[in-house]
Amino acid sequence: MITKRRAIVWFRQDLRLHDNVALSEAINSALEVIPVFVFDDRLFQEATITGFPRTGPHRLRFILESVSELRKRLHGLGGKLIVRMGRTEDILFSIAEQAKSSWIFCNRERTPIEVEIQDVLEKRLWGIGQEMRYSRGKMLYHTADLPFPIQHVPDSFAQYRKETERYVSVRSPLPEPTKNLAQLTVDIEEGEIPTMLDFGYSDLEANTDELRFMGGERAALNRLQYFLWESGAFPKYPKTAQGIQGDNMSSMISPWLAQGCLSPKWLYQELKAYEQKTGNVKCVKAFIQALLLRDFHRFMAKKHGEVIFDVTGISGNQEMKGKWDTDVFLKWVNGETGVPFIDAAMMQLKRTGFLPNRLRQNVASYLINDLGISWVLGASYFEHILIDYDVTSNWSNWNQMAGVGSELRDDRCLSVNAQAQRYDPQGSFTQKWLHRKKEKNLQSVPDQASATTLSNSGKTRRASAKSSHTNDQTLSSS
Ligand SMILES: Cc1cc2nc3c(=O)[nH]c(=O)nc-3n(C[C@H](O)[C@H](O)[C@H](O)COP(=O)(O)OP(=O)(O)OC[C@H]3O[C@@H](n4cnc5c(N)ncnc54)[C@H](O)[C@@H]3O)c2cc1C
Repeated sequence: MITKRRAIVWFRQDLRLHDNVALSEAINSALEVIPVFVFDDRLFQEATITGFPRTGPHRLRFILESVSELRKRLHGLGGKLIVRMGRTEDILFSIAEQAKSSWIFCNRERTPIEVEIQDVLEKRLWGIGQEMRYSRGKMLYHTADLPFPIQHVPDSFAQYRKETERYVSVRSPLPEPTKNLAQLTVDIEEGEIPTMLDFGYSDLEANTDELRFMGGERAALNRLQYFLWESGAFPKYPKTAQGIQGDNMSSMISPWLAQGCLSPKWLYQELKAYEQKTGNVKCVKAFIQALLLRDFHRFMAKKHGEVIFDVTGISGNQEMKGKWDTDVFLKWVNGETGVPFIDAAMMQLKRTGFLPNRLRQNVASYLINDLGISWVLGASYFEHILIDYDVTSNWSNWNQMAGVGSELRDDRCLSVNAQAQRYDPQGSFTQKWLHRKKEKNLQSVPDQASATTLSNSGKTRRASAKSSHTNDQTLSSS
């Protein structure tokens, strides 16, 4: 490739320097690199069908911290990180025009809102003789390395694993750049990183002492180092991963994976190093299985497309529509269903943005099967509140829980009482979070849900124009 003068790197959910293909390719292709991050209105402030903003306070704080660290790290390389709020395609286009760059390098996204933005930008760039250069870095496997085309990815996870694990190898991650970035010869203001207040949240929000995840690449690598090598917890992972309490039952690495502060291929490499050093194959295998599940959900979204956002889901099952009842839904959101185990879990979710997998399954099952509420409302609330929200992991898991996913699982209807007895036999988890609910000084996240009204626009996360019929339900308020 001929080296051109300038390239823009559009950071999206790849907020890291290690194993960042877009950044590495830009550095190799251009004399000057212009890194940019945009807080896009549609992905941050726009309301979902539940009325909540798409990005809630926990994830917002985490991203602000991650962007801030990324800027520091780029400064360390002699570079900048241009930060803006607004519409990505307008902002990047105007920077591209001003800088007379040749390309915008970025990670390719596959889900509607993200794709719409990248497509509009790409078309506008063509108009000024510039191009988008897409890279991939979200998964363990590259689509091109699969032994089948995407349309033939098995719909069952067990089958998918069987047909890939032994035959597909994980590519080596790229090291972080060591070469200093050349000083920009075009004058572009770096821009302030916004604050929680700029998004309408108080600075105290999502600043809980419990399960406080610090955003950024360093914190990700530190957490990984601690969980694998120092905590002593990793060998127990196959037994504890479905636990509901404690800081090291599972890796709790999902927020960093979701924002790309940690590369899955880097993580894989660390797991293999652990296996080699300790000979402990079992826990490494179990962890890799979790990462394969993450890839699988992304492949399901890629294969089946936007139907993952429809009430009838991947399977097209018409029977799982559920009610759109504002009062009942908000009781679930606010931990006021009257079922202590569920209310405690919803309280933890609201206060911290995180729930272990077992509890996610329980609250989802309760909403769908016991309350009879439409699962798309649950998925949309998760989109707002989760600190580790990842479009395909969230929506495809909800598809599975609702019985409209790619495979029908036997374990999707859970008995709350049996689950509470099994996973919280002493009631300590339930007591802890119900007690927290009563404590005044921990009410740092206001009762966001009280002002919320559900919108029956029909738009979950589908491309805007095509969606109106899909989730069109009548609202009721009891
Ligand atoms: C209804 C529902 C919604 C979910 N929404 C999300 C989401 O938005 N983002 C998200 O990252 N996970 C989601 N999950 C999956 C899972 O609950 C979390 O990944 C996990 O709880 C994160 O904790 P951990 O990092 O300690 O997991 P670990 O057990 O340590 O697993 C390691 C990693 O593997 C991946 N992983 C594990 N299980 C799954 C799974 N079932 N699906 C996809 N990836 C998985 C995650 O990246 C996780 O960080 C959802 C699950 C359910 C049931």
